[in-house]
Amino acid sequence: MTETENLSVNPAKKSSLSPKAVIHQTFGDKACYKVEEVQDSTQNECPGLAVQQKGPCLYQCTLQLPEIVVVSDPCRKKKDAEQSAAEKAIEKLGIHQKEYNPTVEEAWDDLVGRLTFLFADEFSLSFPFYVVTMKFLSSPHPLSGHFRAALRREGDFSGCIPLSVIAVCDAKISNICKYINPTAEVNLLAVMTLIQNAADKVPDLIRTFEFEQLSLQRRNPYPNEIIPSSVDHELDLKFQLVKRIPIEVVRIPVSLDKGVESLTLNISATGYYLDDIAPELGVTEASDILISRTIGRASSEMRIYYTAPRQQHPREISVSELIEASHNETFLNARATYISGQVISGTAILASVGYRWKSTDLFHEDVSLRTYYRVLVNMIPSGAYRISREAVVAARLPLAFTTKNNWRGSFPRDILCTFCRFHHLSEPLISTKSNSLKSSPGANVSRKKLKVNESSKEEKSGEGLAAATEDPAGHNGAFHCEVKIYTKSRHLLLNCSPKESFRKQTDATQSTALKVLSWLNVFFEKPDMSREKLNLLAEKLDIHLTPDLFNKFVLCHPVHKLESSRLVNFNSSDISKESEPSIDIGGQNTGNTPSIGSLACISYTASLFIEEGCTKEHLESCEQFEFEIGNEAVLPHLEAAVIKMGVGQSAHFQMDLLPSEYILAAAGDSASTLSLLSSKSCKLEFNLTLLRVTEPLEERMEQALFSPPLSKQRVEFAVQYIKESSATSLVDFGCGSGSLLDSLLLYPTSLEKIVGVDISQRSLARAAKSLHSKLNRLLDTKDPSSKIKVAVLFDGSITKFDSRLYGFGIATCLEVIEHMEEEDASVFGDVVLSSFCPKILIVSTPNYEYNVILQKSTPQSQEDDPDDKNQPQGCKFRNHDHKFEWTRAQFNEWASGLATKHNYALEFSGVGGAADVEPGFASQIAIFRRRQASPTSMVLVHNYTPIWEWSRNDLPIKEA
Ligand code: SAH
Ligand code: MG
Repeated sequence: MTETENLSVNPAKKSSLSPKAVIHQTFGDKACYKVEEVQDSTQNECPGLAVQQKGPCLYQCTLQLPEIVVVSDPCRKKKDAEQSAAEKAIEKLGIHQKEYNPTVEEAWDDLVGRLTFLFADEFSLSFPFYVVTMKFLSSPHPLSGHFRAALRREGDFSGCIPLSVIAVCDAKISNICKYINPTAEVNLLAVMTLIQNAADKVPDLIRTFEFEQLSLQRRNPYPNEIIPSSVDHELDLKFQLVKRIPIEVVRIPVSLDKGVESLTLNISATGYYLDDIAPELGVTEASDILISRTIGRASSEMRIYYTAPRQQHPREISVSELIEASHNETFLNARATYISGQVISGTAILASVGYRWKSTDLFHEDVSLRTYYRVLVNMIPSGAYRISREAVVAARLPLAFTTKNNWRGSFPRDILCTFCRFHHLSEPLISTKSNSLKSSPGANVSRKKLKVNESSKEEKSGEGLAAATEDPAGHNGAFHCEVKIYTKSRHLLLNCSPKESFRKQTDATQSTALKVLSWLNVFFEKPDMSREKLNLLAEKLDIHLTPDLFNKFVLCHPVHKLESSRLVNFNSSDISKESEPSIDIGGQNTGNTPSIGSLACISYTASLFIEEGCTKEHLESCEQFEFEIGNEAVLPHLEAAVIKMGVGQSAHFQMDLLPSEYILAAAGDSASTLSLLSSKSCKLEFNLTLLRVTEPLEERMEQALFSPPLSKQRVEFAVQYIKESSATSLVDFGCGSGSLLDSLLLYPTSLEKIVGVDISQRSLARAAKSLHSKLNRLLDTKDPSSKIKVAVLFDGSITKFDSRLYGFGIATCLEVIEHMEEEDASVFGDVVLSSFCPKILIVSTPNYEYNVILQKSTPQSQEDDPDDKNQPQGCKFRNHDHKFEWTRAQFNEWASGLATKHNYALEFSGVGGAADVEPGFASQIAIFRRRQASPTSMVLVHNYTPIWEWSRNDLPIKEA
């Protein structure tokens, strides 16, 4: 059973309250927080830099209380400033946080005391009269709304308050009950029994009913003069006109064979709404109804209404019997039990109606089928992410957390907290450790780039996922994170402590939270995956699972499996194997297509579509939807379409259906959607337009700040050397999507052979496409300025030698080394100068000292987490994928060492900025020239895989 583990242990120790919570307990709304930005006076400047730098932004909070005003210390985060102010106030006022931890006897006394308070009247002497006041009845408590409404009940029921209402609407009572009977937390009947027994101890005040009614009634009727004052006359008058309020609710049958259905209840505005729900559950009056805790958001009033099994009076059935009975499938309502986390029996009604704090009106909201499916989908990590993005059929939980700037939708850490809340688990325990020493090189064993193969269909199954998340960007830094998930009763379900470390604390937490979510997501979405595969995947994600985990989630599979497959014969494990749909792309391709790491912004419409009769039903649409390319942050088909598109182009495709719970969670009108879904030929149709592409931050800065853009300046820089050396062959190490090779074609040069090497197949594929069309165009137009005969792209790591690229006229390696570990950058330097032996080698890399200027001028960095300011010298790297960025001195040291060792002449230059103006060039460049006339000997090795070749005269690739 879902929470049986709670039965054997003591109530969870209440975690101590935050300072703000303590202040709230004491002062409520009278506490007023005001946060202001303050400038840090200590300017942390880049050494040797003549430019003034903005210090980190700090916040200070002023907390105004009835008695005092306190000001916090300056903090990096607004919320920390508030907590700091609250803490100071607590200290000043000497408030002692009361830990409520009563003995069983004390708890009984407290329970009786609370009930007495709820039902008692109070006499006060207000000369010349004695005045009777019903303190609770006139209070703004949600339960007092029920008390007032119950007074309007007819006949013998007048003033009868259902035990279940007292149990769920009074937080104090449910809290006390936990200390008497630990099962109270999950078992409503247990709480009701306790309340009834406590009420029996004050027979003069409260009347209990032996068997026939599960309610309490005040022994003496309320004084007459009280009733009118407590029942709002005006309200009654107002509703004389509108006696009935129609509210939409959802009925959840016990049998899993029957679908949930929508129905409308007409709730009486002047009577007691529970009496109107009763007939729907097959009972006559409110006290036969049991009520769950709230479902979903903390502020929600959505609850499940159900009934106790007949003849099972709370005094007669023990909790263990109930749990026992609930294993009987004809009795347990699996869906209702799953979403509420409480044992629920019989038919259930999901409704959002009730009394709230500080309002005398009955609150009500429609609960549609769509609401029900959203609740269900929200219980899956990926579903919670989709709903947070309001893209239930389009989005997916991304595979990796690359940077905060590129993440869209709720953050992994927040999704994980929501997940735990919805599954009635403890808050996840997230701890980060910072190690002052740089992590040992041994720790970064596998540092492959995120590889996404364009041609072969991605399978988002266990293995694919682990490979991709294993190393989102090869972060290497000072922060390690560990995430632990516990049940409410402190049983460990899983823990995740990745080996890799991160430069930023937020990256460490978000990435680790995402790993946990990714595993949970596979677990929830693939009910048929074997235990072995799940364990294997967990291992790859550095997650340790406990047997308790599988016990905790026993109900999730039957429920999700059922709801996702109810209508069409849908097999969720087939979703990734489904063949790629044909995508129609319309409009002129401007060439501005998104690449990995860039943000694509699209508008889209998703509909259900049935060919025959051309029936179409709109599901969801969005006018501006942005996502990061390369992380499967959307449906694979959607991403596959977008990477083929240029800005301004539109596309259209159809694909097989998603699980129907997702579709219904997105559907505006579930009734018409349902009728379409039952058709076998129903498809999901997407229409989209690529609105814009935002390059990764580095490119954005380079484009915005330099004219021509820095990338163009690098190309021109290289061209100048090609011309000067009359080189006929060029190899571009780390060619990426081929920006240099591409642009070279625009200049008349002596080059006959151009080669690119990279480890990203995806980038290489893009380079191939673009080079292919450009080269063929040159050929077609018989452009005499181009002498290019051969172009080749190799897949391989530039730290390895390949004899096919030996002795080239010129080699370039632009903005690549910073994407490798420093050790590898040195290996590359040695390999290229000792083995490849190009006549000229041009290496560019960012100048770290220049960052302060870039960051000052990009608004992006302002919205960043203040944690980022922890970077050395208050700066951060230009691109999340950078493993290092060197100052001029560091670059100089690296290059000079290599030049001397391998007998090359060395010269420094750069692009963006100027050599003699601080802080130097934006991109620093080293030019190595071979001193030896002809290279010595060479070993024949092929470490690279050619993945694309083009030749003008069908020339074979010559080996040097
Ligand atoms: N030179 C290109 C791309 C720079 S981005 C330009 O100026 O536009 C850095 C590139 O280096 C990426 O495409 C990445 O895949 C590649 N890279 C990183 N480590 C590599 C390695 N060990 N071998 C080959 N390529 C590598
Ligand atoms: Mg770079």
